Amino acid sequence: MLHVSFKKIWNGFTLDATLEIPFGKITALFGPSGAGKSTILRIISGLETADEGRISYGSEVWFDKLSGIHLPPQQRPVGFVFQDFALFPHLTVKKNVAYGIKEKKHAQEVRDLISLVGLSGYEHYYPAQLSGGQKQRVALIRALARKPGLLLMDEPLSALDWETRRQLQEDLKQILRQFNVTTIYVTHDITEMYKLADYVIALESGKVMRRGTPEEIFLGKKLSTRIQISGKVIGIESDPIMVAVTVMHEDQYIKTLIDAEEIDRMDLKIGDDVIIGAKSSDVILFKTLTKL
Ligand code: ADP
Repeated sequence: MLHVSFKKIWNGFTLDATLEIPFGKITALFGPSGAGKSTILRIISGLETADEGRISYGSEVWFDKLSGIHLPPQQRPVGFVFQDFALFPHLTVKKNVAYGIKEKKHAQEVRDLISLVGLSGYEHYYPAQLSGGQKQRVALIRALARKPGLLLMDEPLSALDWETRRQLQEDLKQILRQFNVTTIYVTHDITEMYKLADYVIALESGKVMRRGTPEEIFLGKKLSTRIQISGKVIGIESDPIMVAVTVMHEDQYIKTLIDAEEIDRMDLKIGDDVIIGAKSSDVILFKTLTKL
């Protein structure tokens, strides 16, 4: 377990975090921009120093304000993957991945890693010749090649288009599981958190607000609904378990499946005004009391 407990104060902003990160799992730091997520990664990696607190990785102490311990970043077994890839532009894919690995015998390992992320044949390309998704694949295996005890990923997919992001989410999950590497994954994207994380720590304004599985955070009452569409019910088709409700929104029909008990509870009828709320895969329906 990685234990992190620290306080960092800037003018007008206090970051006060206690985190327990299980080994071998993907823990998401989830929250809006400015919550303090990137700063937590910088403090864990040693790039930034906390004002007080302690960081321990198993039996190793990386930082302890009281005993004056501050291990420099290069002595912490940490790999970093950033949003902007941070590849060496003057080095080929192969050399980027092999960078920092001294032994020649790792050549096969580097080839295997390149093949694992589907980049065989691109070994001699330079970063500028690759797409965003390919660059991030290189950044990932470059970090993994050094066999870090802890992998820190700071919004690694946010610079990519939707389709590439979706594909990489799938691949990332598989690769991180395969390496069984302890990962802290910073994201403000709820779908990404849900898809990738084993465990979630939700932050807001420098404080931990909630902890739990993605389901617990996702279905948590405090989480605001992501999409809201208002409309009028024009069709209700029931079967014993689910009810298909058709709602007219402006000039579009939206059909959604809702739990039959929910529909009974709210006594939904054709002509009712409703709001459809969607949190990614989870759709909920509210009956509106006033005319829209
Ligand atoms: P997130 O990654 O969740 O978007 P950050 O960790 O980047 O959040 O920033 C959290 C807060 O800390 C922000 O309000 C930011 O302005 C502040 N902050 C970060 N680094 C510094 C710094 N070096 N000096 C002063 N304030 C900082």
